[in-house]
Amino acid sequence: MVKGFSFLGSLLAVAGVIFINYPATGDNNFGSVHLIVGNPSGATQDSNNVDNLLLIKKQNALSYNKSKSIANWVSWQLNRKWLGGIDRCKSFSPDNTLPSGFKSVLPTDYKGSGFDRGHLTPSADRTDNAADNCAVFQMSNIIPQSPDVNQGPWEKLERYSRELAEQGKELYIIAGGVGTGGEGTNGFKPTFIGRTSNNKINVPASSWKVILILDRPGLGLQGVTKNTRVIAVNMPHKQGVKQQSWDVKSNGKFRYITSVDEIEKLTGYDFFTNVPKDIQDVIEAKIDNGDS
Ligand code: MN
Ligand code: MN
Repeated sequence: MVKGFSFLGSLLAVAGVIFINYPATGDNNFGSVHLIVGNPSGATQDSNNVDNLLLIKKQNALSYNKSKSIANWVSWQLNRKWLGGIDRCKSFSPDNTLPSGFKSVLPTDYKGSGFDRGHLTPSADRTDNAADNCAVFQMSNIIPQSPDVNQGPWEKLERYSRELAEQGKELYIIAGGVGTGGEGTNGFKPTFIGRTSNNKINVPASSWKVILILDRPGLGLQGVTKNTRVIAVNMPHKQGVKQQSWDVKSNGKFRYITSVDEIEKLTGYDFFTNVPKDIQDVIEAKIDNGDS
């Protein structure tokens, strides 16, 4: 009887452990709201992990790449509570949170390069207070972008995302640059030397972004279903595209909109790892319809 009871007890204990550990989806976020859906490159906070170093900030989370002097990706939550009426920060700044041994990119580094200091987390996504807005002007949130991409289709998608947030939705956005070499106002460059820091800065071949859209703030992972809308884009770094919308078509096909599966192939990352696999499989294959 005692034996039987303890057997049942062990069984319950095992079941309890399994039950507690089972919904592992959601735990793997380093306590950051910006990593609820996952950490696409498995970045870590180990300062020896120089090319996939996880930096967690109040305003976003990112994987930094020392060899490229840019982030691999930046991930952030967007909903109404991040939005307000704050003016654009007066100046860019070095990221002083990088570990020793890292040489920060400086605000003047992009001068003369022909590339824009392209925000990954946009300034206008962090307008609730001055500190949050200035935080996204740290150079670790900046990549070289073709000015016409940055000021054209890329910016239009940023605006559209904020419209969704203003409507009451909650977005999880991950963005970065991939590949080497793009076109700026001074022609094609694979890299350039930072004017002040002397860092060799990688010019990505394109900017990509994936956006997961939940109906309202606070749903968390439980809110992600096979019907969840996901937008994925890849925008090659070319000039002459400023007038284009993010959902522009050519020959009946979207020029930039693609699937998360395609962005995973392109980058080697795995997005939405905290979302159950059967749901991931469905939402990552989707091709969004654009702003229609
Ligand atoms: Mn921009
Ligand atoms: Mn995935």
